[in-house]
Amino acid sequence: MKRLIDMGVLACRQKNSRGTFKPHLAVRFRSDDGNLNTFSIDSTRVPKKHIQPDAYLVTHAHSDHHGKSAMLSERSVCTDKTAVALEIRHDKEYKGSTVGTGESIEVNGVTVQTYSTGHTAGAVAFYWTNEVGTRILVTGDVKDTSALPKCDVLITEANYGDPTDPSCHFEDDIFGFRDAVENNCSVAFGAYAFGKAQRAVELLRDIGYSGAIAMEDRSLQLTRSLLEDAGELVGLEDCGEEDICIVPPWDLKKLPHKRAKYVMTGRSDYRYPSIQISDHLDAGGLVNMVEAIDPEVTIVYHPSGDRPEKFASHLRSLGKDAISIDGISNVLSNEFA
Ligand SMILES: [Zn+2]
Repeated sequence: MKRLIDMGVLACRQKNSRGTFKPHLAVRFRSDDGNLNTFSIDSTRVPKKHIQPDAYLVTHAHSDHHGKSAMLSERSVCTDKTAVALEIRHDKEYKGSTVGTGESIEVNGVTVQTYSTGHTAGAVAFYWTNEVGTRILVTGDVKDTSALPKCDVLITEANYGDPTDPSCHFEDDIFGFRDAVENNCSVAFGAYAFGKAQRAVELLRDIGYSGAIAMEDRSLQLTRSLLEDAGELVGLEDCGEEDICIVPPWDLKKLPHKRAKYVMTGRSDYRYPSIQISDHLDAGGLVNMVEAIDPEVTIVYHPSGDRPEKFASHLRSLGKDAISIDGISNVLSNEFA
Protein backbone atom coordinates (compact mmCIF):
# COMPACT_ATOMS: atom_id res chain seq x y z
CA MET A 1 0.00 0.00 0.00
CA LYS A 2 1.27 3.42 -0.93
CA ARG A 3 1.23 5.10 2.43
CA LEU A 4 -0.73 8.28 2.94
CA ILE A 5 2.29 9.90 4.50
CA ASP A 6 4.34 9.26 1.33
CA MET A 7 1.62 11.10 -0.58
CA GLY A 8 1.94 14.07 1.74
CA VAL A 9 -1.40 13.49 3.45
CA LEU A 10 -2.03 13.04 7.16
CA ALA A 11 -5.56 12.10 8.19
CA CYS A 12 -6.25 12.90 11.83
CA ARG A 13 -9.07 12.89 14.30
CA GLN A 14 -9.70 15.58 16.85
CA LYS A 15 -10.89 15.28 20.40
CA ASN A 16 -13.31 17.56 22.13
CA SER A 17 -13.00 18.85 25.67
CA ARG A 18 -14.55 15.68 27.15
CA GLY A 19 -11.82 13.58 25.55
CA THR A 20 -14.12 11.87 23.05
CA PHE A 21 -13.58 12.09 19.33
CA LYS A 22 -15.14 14.89 17.35
CA PRO A 23 -17.15 13.69 14.37
CA HIS A 24 -15.30 13.00 11.16
CA LEU A 25 -11.75 14.00 10.48
CA ALA A 26 -9.14 16.55 9.53
CA VAL A 27 -6.62 16.35 6.70
CA ARG A 28 -3.17 17.92 7.00
CA PHE A 29 -1.00 18.59 3.95
CA ARG A 30 1.42 21.15 2.52
CA SER A 31 0.13 23.45 -0.19
CA ASP A 32 2.16 24.51 -3.25
CA ASP A 33 3.67 27.41 -1.33
CA GLY A 34 4.95 25.01 1.32
CA ASN A 35 2.49 26.05 4.00
CA LEU A 36 1.08 23.41 6.31
CA ASN A 37 -2.71 23.33 6.06
CA THR A 38 -5.38 21.60 8.10
CA PHE A 39 -8.83 21.12 6.55
CA SER A 40 -11.55 19.87 8.85
CA ILE A 41 -14.16 17.72 7.11
CA ASP A 42 -17.86 17.74 8.04
CA SER A 43 -16.86 18.33 11.65
CA THR A 44 -17.97 20.53 14.51
CA ARG A 45 -16.05 23.67 15.43
CA VAL A 46 -12.92 23.62 17.55
CA PRO A 47 -13.44 25.87 20.60
CA LYS A 48 -12.26 29.45 19.98
CA LYS A 49 -9.45 29.28 22.53
CA HIS A 50 -7.78 26.46 20.58
CA ILE A 51 -5.86 26.67 17.32
CA GLN A 52 -8.32 26.58 14.44
CA PRO A 53 -8.10 24.47 11.30
CA ASP A 54 -7.56 26.50 8.13
CA ALA A 55 -10.97 25.48 6.82
CA TYR A 56 -14.14 23.68 7.85
CA LEU A 57 -15.35 21.99 4.67
CA VAL A 58 -19.13 21.36 4.80
CA THR A 59 -20.22 18.99 2.01
CA HIS A 60 -23.97 19.57 2.49
CA ALA A 61 -26.61 20.70 4.96
CA HIS A 62 -27.71 17.39 6.53
CA SER A 63 -27.31 17.58 10.30
CA ASP A 64 -24.96 14.58 10.57
CA HIS A 65 -22.40 16.62 8.61
CA HIS A 66 -22.38 19.28 11.33
CA GLY A 67 -22.86 22.46 9.32
CA LYS A 68 -24.98 23.76 12.19
CA SER A 69 -21.79 24.14 14.23
CA ALA A 70 -19.30 24.89 11.42
CA MET A 71 -21.51 27.61 9.86
CA LEU A 72 -20.66 29.89 12.78
CA SER A 73 -16.95 29.97 11.85
CA GLU A 74 -15.56 32.41 9.30
CA ARG A 75 -13.36 29.53 8.14
CA SER A 76 -16.27 27.40 6.96
CA VAL A 77 -16.55 26.65 3.24
CA CYS A 78 -19.65 25.34 1.46
CA THR A 79 -21.73 26.02 -1.64
CA ASP A 80 -24.05 29.00 -1.83
CA LYS A 81 -27.02 26.62 -1.74
CA THR A 82 -25.74 24.75 1.29
CA ALA A 83 -25.30 28.10 3.06
CA VAL A 84 -28.91 29.04 2.25
CA ALA A 85 -30.14 25.64 3.45
CA LEU A 86 -28.17 25.93 6.70
CA GLU A 87 -29.54 29.43 7.36
CA ILE A 88 -33.15 28.31 6.79
CA ARG A 89 -32.77 25.09 8.78
CA HIS A 90 -31.00 26.62 11.77
CA ASP A 91 -32.24 30.19 11.66
CA LYS A 92 -28.70 31.55 12.01
CA GLU A 93 -26.40 33.54 9.78
CA TYR A 94 -23.78 31.58 7.83
CA LYS A 95 -20.42 33.22 8.57
CA GLY A 96 -18.05 31.43 6.16
CA SER A 97 -17.19 31.55 2.45
CA THR A 98 -19.33 30.19 -0.34
CA VAL A 99 -18.57 28.73 -3.75
CA GLY A 100 -20.80 27.74 -6.66
CA THR A 101 -21.33 24.09 -7.57
CA GLY A 102 -18.73 23.18 -10.20
CA GLU A 103 -16.66 26.25 -9.35
CA SER A 104 -13.48 26.77 -7.33
CA ILE A 105 -12.44 28.88 -4.36
CA GLU A 106 -9.08 29.87 -2.88
CA VAL A 107 -8.79 28.58 0.67
CA ASN A 108 -5.64 29.70 2.46
CA GLY A 109 -3.63 29.55 -0.79
CA VAL A 110 -5.18 26.25 -1.93
CA THR A 111 -7.47 26.09 -4.97
CA VAL A 112 -10.44 23.94 -3.95
CA GLN A 113 -12.74 22.78 -6.74
CA THR A 114 -16.32 21.57 -6.16
CA TYR A 115 -18.20 18.80 -7.99
CA SER A 116 -21.88 17.95 -7.61
CA THR A 117 -22.68 14.70 -5.81
CA GLY A 118 -26.43 14.85 -6.57
CA HIS A 119 -27.22 14.00 -2.94
CA THR A 120 -29.15 17.16 -1.96
CA ALA A 121 -29.46 20.64 -3.43
CA GLY A 122 -26.02 22.22 -2.99
CA ALA A 123 -24.25 18.97 -2.04
CA VAL A 124 -20.71 18.82 -3.42
CA ALA A 125 -17.42 17.00 -3.23
CA PHE A 126 -14.26 19.09 -2.58
CA TYR A 127 -11.07 18.48 -4.59
CA TRP A 128 -7.58 19.89 -4.29
CA THR A 129 -3.94 18.91 -4.79
CA ASN A 130 -1.08 19.20 -2.34
CA GLU A 131 2.58 20.19 -2.68
CA VAL A 132 3.64 16.84 -4.15
CA GLY A 133 0.71 16.69 -6.57
CA THR A 134 -1.50 14.25 -4.66
CA ARG A 135 -5.13 14.70 -5.72
CA ILE A 136 -7.48 14.65 -2.74
CA LEU A 137 -11.27 14.27 -3.09
CA VAL A 138 -13.76 14.54 -0.20
CA THR A 139 -17.23 13.47 -1.32
CA GLY A 140 -19.65 13.70 1.59
CA ASP A 141 -22.77 11.68 0.73
CA VAL A 142 -23.16 10.66 -2.90
CA LYS A 143 -26.10 9.90 -5.18
CA ASP A 144 -24.67 10.65 -8.63
CA THR A 145 -20.99 10.01 -9.42
CA SER A 146 -21.03 11.28 -13.00
CA ALA A 147 -19.39 14.65 -12.19
CA LEU A 148 -16.68 13.29 -9.87
CA PRO A 149 -13.03 13.40 -11.00
CA LYS A 150 -10.33 10.77 -10.53
CA CYS A 151 -8.10 11.22 -7.48
CA ASP A 152 -5.31 9.64 -5.43
CA VAL A 153 -6.84 9.90 -1.94
CA LEU A 154 -10.61 9.42 -1.83
CA ILE A 155 -12.38 10.39 1.39
CA THR A 156 -15.93 9.07 1.15
CA GLU A 157 -19.08 7.70 2.81
CA ALA A 158 -20.63 4.30 3.46
CA ASN A 159 -24.24 5.02 4.46
CA TYR A 160 -25.26 1.86 2.58
CA GLY A 161 -21.80 0.36 2.43
CA ASP A 162 -22.38 -3.01 4.11
CA PRO A 163 -22.72 -5.48 1.22
CA THR A 164 -23.93 -8.26 3.55
CA ASP A 165 -26.98 -6.22 4.65
CA PRO A 166 -29.95 -6.64 2.26
CA SER A 167 -31.12 -3.08 3.04
CA CYS A 168 -27.90 -1.81 1.42
CA HIS A 169 -29.05 -3.01 -2.00
CA PHE A 170 -31.81 -1.03 -3.70
CA GLU A 171 -32.94 0.77 -6.81
CA ASP A 172 -35.10 3.86 -7.10
CA ASP A 173 -38.73 2.95 -7.82
CA ILE A 174 -39.47 5.65 -10.38
CA PHE A 175 -42.27 3.52 -11.88
CA GLY A 176 -43.95 3.15 -8.48
CA PHE A 177 -43.71 6.90 -8.01
CA ARG A 178 -45.22 7.57 -11.42
CA ASP A 179 -48.03 5.04 -10.76
CA ALA A 180 -48.86 6.75 -7.47
CA VAL A 181 -49.24 10.06 -9.31
CA GLU A 182 -51.20 8.69 -12.26
CA ASN A 183 -53.54 6.29 -10.42
CA ASN A 184 -54.80 8.68 -7.74
CA CYS A 185 -56.73 11.89 -8.29
CA SER A 186 -55.61 13.20 -4.90
CA VAL A 187 -52.18 12.19 -3.59
CA ALA A 188 -49.65 13.20 -0.92
CA PHE A 189 -46.02 12.22 -0.43
CA GLY A 190 -44.22 12.13 2.90
CA ALA A 191 -40.69 13.48 2.39
CA TYR A 192 -38.17 15.15 4.70
CA ALA A 193 -38.16 18.93 4.26
CA PHE A 194 -34.52 19.16 3.20
CA GLY A 195 -33.33 16.79 0.51
CA LYS A 196 -36.18 14.41 -0.17
CA ALA A 197 -38.83 17.12 -0.65
CA GLN A 198 -36.74 18.84 -3.35
CA ARG A 199 -36.09 15.45 -5.00
CA ALA A 200 -39.86 14.79 -5.01
CA VAL A 201 -40.52 18.11 -6.77
CA GLU A 202 -37.81 17.40 -9.35
CA LEU A 203 -39.21 13.91 -10.00
CA LEU A 204 -42.75 15.23 -10.37
CA ARG A 205 -41.62 17.75 -12.97
CA ASP A 206 -39.46 15.10 -14.69
CA ILE A 207 -42.45 12.78 -15.14
CA GLY A 208 -44.45 15.65 -16.63
CA TYR A 209 -46.67 16.78 -13.75
CA SER A 210 -47.18 20.51 -14.33
CA GLY A 211 -49.86 21.36 -11.75
CA ALA A 212 -49.38 23.08 -8.41
CA ILE A 213 -47.41 21.35 -5.66
CA ALA A 214 -48.51 22.18 -2.12
CA MET A 215 -45.85 21.97 0.57
CA GLU A 216 -45.53 22.37 4.31
CA ASP A 217 -43.94 25.72 5.27
CA ARG A 218 -40.32 24.71 5.85
CA SER A 219 -40.25 22.40 2.80
CA LEU A 220 -41.78 25.22 0.74
CA GLN A 221 -39.22 27.78 1.91
CA LEU A 222 -36.29 25.41 1.23
CA THR A 223 -37.60 24.36 -2.18
CA ARG A 224 -38.28 27.92 -3.33
CA SER A 225 -34.79 28.97 -2.24
CA LEU A 226 -32.87 25.96 -3.58
CA LEU A 227 -34.57 24.72 -6.72
CA GLU A 228 -34.66 26.44 -10.07
CA ASP A 229 -37.53 25.46 -12.37
CA ALA A 230 -39.66 24.10 -9.53
CA GLY A 231 -42.87 25.25 -11.22
CA GLU A 232 -45.88 26.40 -9.20
CA LEU A 233 -45.37 25.84 -5.46
CA VAL A 234 -48.02 26.82 -2.90
CA GLY A 235 -48.57 26.53 0.85
CA LEU A 236 -50.85 23.83 2.26
CA GLU A 237 -53.54 26.45 2.92
CA ASP A 238 -53.81 27.01 -0.84
CA CYS A 239 -53.84 23.31 -1.74
CA GLY A 240 -56.54 22.30 -4.22
CA GLU A 241 -57.98 18.79 -4.03
CA GLU A 242 -56.14 17.66 -7.15
CA ASP A 243 -52.86 19.37 -6.33
CA ILE A 244 -50.07 17.10 -5.19
CA CYS A 245 -49.00 17.54 -1.57
CA ILE A 246 -45.52 17.10 -0.07
CA VAL A 247 -45.20 17.13 3.72
CA PRO A 248 -42.81 15.56 6.27
CA PRO A 249 -43.78 11.89 6.84
CA TRP A 250 -45.19 12.56 10.33
CA ASP A 251 -47.55 15.21 8.93
CA LEU A 252 -49.31 12.83 6.50
CA LYS A 253 -51.84 11.96 9.19
CA LYS A 254 -52.98 15.59 9.33
CA LEU A 255 -54.14 15.49 5.71
CA PRO A 256 -57.70 14.49 4.65
CA HIS A 257 -58.53 10.76 4.76
CA LYS A 258 -59.47 10.55 1.11
CA ARG A 259 -55.99 11.56 -0.08
CA ALA A 260 -53.77 8.62 -1.10
CA LYS A 261 -50.59 8.76 0.98
CA TYR A 262 -47.10 7.41 0.40
CA VAL A 263 -43.76 7.85 2.14
CA MET A 264 -40.65 8.37 0.02
CA THR A 265 -38.18 6.20 1.89
CA GLY A 266 -36.29 2.95 1.90
CA ARG A 267 -37.68 2.21 5.36
CA SER A 268 -40.78 0.10 5.88
CA ASP A 269 -41.85 1.14 9.38
CA TYR A 270 -44.35 3.83 8.41
CA ARG A 271 -48.10 3.16 8.40
CA TYR A 272 -48.31 4.27 4.76
CA PRO A 273 -46.99 2.43 1.72
CA SER A 274 -43.42 3.39 0.95
CA ILE A 275 -41.88 4.22 -2.41
CA GLN A 276 -38.16 3.52 -2.58
CA ILE A 277 -36.52 6.77 -3.62
CA SER A 278 -33.07 7.25 -2.11
CA ASP A 279 -30.65 10.17 -1.93
CA HIS A 280 -27.78 7.68 -1.73
CA LEU A 281 -25.81 5.13 -3.68
CA ASP A 282 -26.36 1.56 -2.57
CA ALA A 283 -23.51 -0.85 -1.75
CA GLY A 284 -22.89 -1.76 -5.38
CA GLY A 285 -23.02 1.90 -6.41
CA LEU A 286 -20.39 2.80 -3.81
CA VAL A 287 -18.03 0.12 -5.12
CA ASN A 288 -18.62 1.31 -8.70
CA MET A 289 -17.79 4.85 -7.57
CA VAL A 290 -14.47 3.76 -6.07
CA GLU A 291 -13.63 1.80 -9.23
CA ALA A 292 -14.42 4.80 -11.45
CA ILE A 293 -12.48 7.29 -9.32
CA ASP A 294 -9.61 4.81 -9.02
CA PRO A 295 -7.77 6.17 -5.96
CA GLU A 296 -4.54 4.83 -4.45
CA VAL A 297 -6.21 4.87 -1.03
CA THR A 298 -9.81 5.25 0.12
CA ILE A 299 -10.63 6.64 3.56
CA VAL A 300 -14.22 5.89 4.65
CA TYR A 301 -15.26 8.57 7.15
CA HIS A 302 -19.07 8.54 7.41
CA PRO A 303 -21.59 7.69 8.92
CA SER A 304 -21.05 6.86 12.59
CA GLY A 305 -21.36 3.18 13.50
CA ASP A 306 -19.78 0.15 11.88
CA ARG A 307 -20.54 0.76 8.21
CA PRO A 308 -17.30 2.67 7.40
CA GLU A 309 -15.20 -0.28 8.59
CA LYS A 310 -17.48 -2.80 6.84
CA PHE A 311 -17.18 -0.93 3.57
CA ALA A 312 -13.40 -0.41 3.93
CA SER A 313 -12.96 -4.10 4.63
CA HIS A 314 -15.12 -4.96 1.61
CA LEU A 315 -12.91 -2.72 -0.55
CA ARG A 316 -9.81 -4.48 0.81
CA SER A 317 -11.37 -7.85 -0.08
CA LEU A 318 -11.64 -6.52 -3.64
CA GLY A 319 -7.92 -5.72 -3.63
CA LYS A 320 -8.26 -1.99 -3.01
CA ASP A 321 -6.39 -0.08 -0.33
CA ALA A 322 -8.88 1.30 2.16
CA ILE A 323 -9.11 2.34 5.78
CA SER A 324 -12.05 3.51 7.83
CA ILE A 325 -12.15 6.38 10.26
CA ASP A 326 -11.84 3.78 13.06
CA GLY A 327 -8.40 2.89 11.71
CA ILE A 328 -7.07 6.45 11.99
CA SER A 329 -4.85 6.68 15.00
CA ASN A 330 -3.38 10.17 14.56
CA VAL A 331 -4.98 12.51 17.00
CA LEU A 332 -4.70 16.26 16.66
CA SER A 333 -4.34 17.73 20.08
CA ASN A 334 -5.92 21.06 20.81
CA GLU A 335 -2.52 22.66 20.42
CA PHE A 336 -1.72 21.53 16.91
CA ALA A 337 0.78 23.83 15.25
ZN1 LIG B 1 -26.60 13.58 3.72
